[in-house]
Amino acid sequence: MKFPGCYRWSRAILIILNFAVGAVPVWAADNVIALKAHRLFDGKSKSLVPNGVVIVQGDKIIDVGSNLGIPDGARVIDLGDATLAPGFMDAHTHLTLDYSSDYNARRLNELDLNVSEQAIIATTHARATVEAGFTTVRDLGSRFVGSREFVDVALRNSINKGVVVGPRMLVATKGIGATGGHFDPTSGFRDFLFGREPDYTDGIIDSPDDARKAVRFEVKNGADVIKAAVSGGVLSLVDEVDTPQLTPAEMAALVDESHRLRKKVAVHCHGDEAAREAIEAGVDSIEHGSFVKPETLTRMKNKGVFLTPTLMATEWIMNKLENYPPVLQAKARAAAVARSDMFRNAVKLGVKISFGTDAAVFPHGQNAREFKLMVDLGMQPIEALRSATANDAELLGVAQKTGTLEKGKLADIIAMPGDPSADITATERVFFVMKEGKIIRNGPPSVHVGAEETGAAKTAVPGD
Ligand SMILES: [Zn+2]
Repeated sequence: MKFPGCYRWSRAILIILNFAVGAVPVWAADNVIALKAHRLFDGKSKSLVPNGVVIVQGDKIIDVGSNLGIPDGARVIDLGDATLAPGFMDAHTHLTLDYSSDYNARRLNELDLNVSEQAIIATTHARATVEAGFTTVRDLGSRFVGSREFVDVALRNSINKGVVVGPRMLVATKGIGATGGHFDPTSGFRDFLFGREPDYTDGIIDSPDDARKAVRFEVKNGADVIKAAVSGGVLSLVDEVDTPQLTPAEMAALVDESHRLRKKVAVHCHGDEAAREAIEAGVDSIEHGSFVKPETLTRMKNKGVFLTPTLMATEWIMNKLENYPPVLQAKARAAAVARSDMFRNAVKLGVKISFGTDAAVFPHGQNAREFKLMVDLGMQPIEALRSATANDAELLGVAQKTGTLEKGKLADIIAMPGDPSADITATERVFFVMKEGKIIRNGPPSVHVGAEETGAAKTAVPGD
């Protein structure tokens, strides 16, 4: 039973007390939440602590630790035999792009659907991602061939305004690359099918000046981060997977312009030569890195360049290989053979590893399956967890406000059953998600993905 009058009085007393005691905080009981679980991972420590408690007020964490006292009147949510952790981050997603198990059907679908319809579909990808425990993503490229839309910017803004439920997004707008390269949206189509050759407004550049113009154009239109393709790719039809695609002068101009505008640079790069040139140019992260040799990985370590391995992408393609055209199958096989050794080397050498998956190459919301792939290739579970929290926060430049469970940080908090340091697949069973103090999920997900996607999610092996 509620007594509104008493409630008002108690609030008034609290406010008076607050003035009376000066700097000592008095919690307004109605908006304090205490989250409890058997274990807690804070995002940066080398181990979990028992009897974890996180106290949340408004959108912030106001206290965190082991066996903390619960403030009077706080709403207690006891999650039981579970582990509290910072919201995961994925440093490599494509939330505006739809997953399809059929490469050609997907290609046709992207031409068929109105871009506004694709934008509406993208809202379900955003929800599936945040409900899987990923409260922040770096979204590395959104492009609809023949269209001028900035769907990723619209999605990010709609999430920030609370219109759409989804993760905090840092968006790259259109990936920047060379004519005929991995990001040329007209590659593989008949010449002039779309009426003109793409230019800097499509992210396509052929000189250092073009590179600067493309970066300026993208920042003008809302880019938080710059993405470029410096080598060929697996899922593009007319290039080799490991050839360099931008000149050192183009890369230098692109990185210089981005950093002047305080934007970081992520580069799609499979080949070793392109990686060496990109590291020299000063990029912030190498995405994929399949063929990168140990000497180049050592350079990355020495310069503090992150590796975002996106193991899920290769894993998924390899398990559905018959769904891709023969030319892409050959590229995928070569990349898959190389990337496992590359990843093991990167772990051994101590390269900074950021968690990133390339979501859209597989169904959105299955991002956490990357953790097991990392652990299977030699990474310690706790290091894999740190890659998706403190490491990603550092790479994304958001470590001041999120990525760890600490006083004063945003209340982006998740819970998974059991102990992820003993069984890393616990990360795939996140059941509680809070973003900026708001509970997005406590129990089953609200998103019901397609039959194929649901079936895949239940299996331990990607893509079978
Ligand atoms: Zn990608």
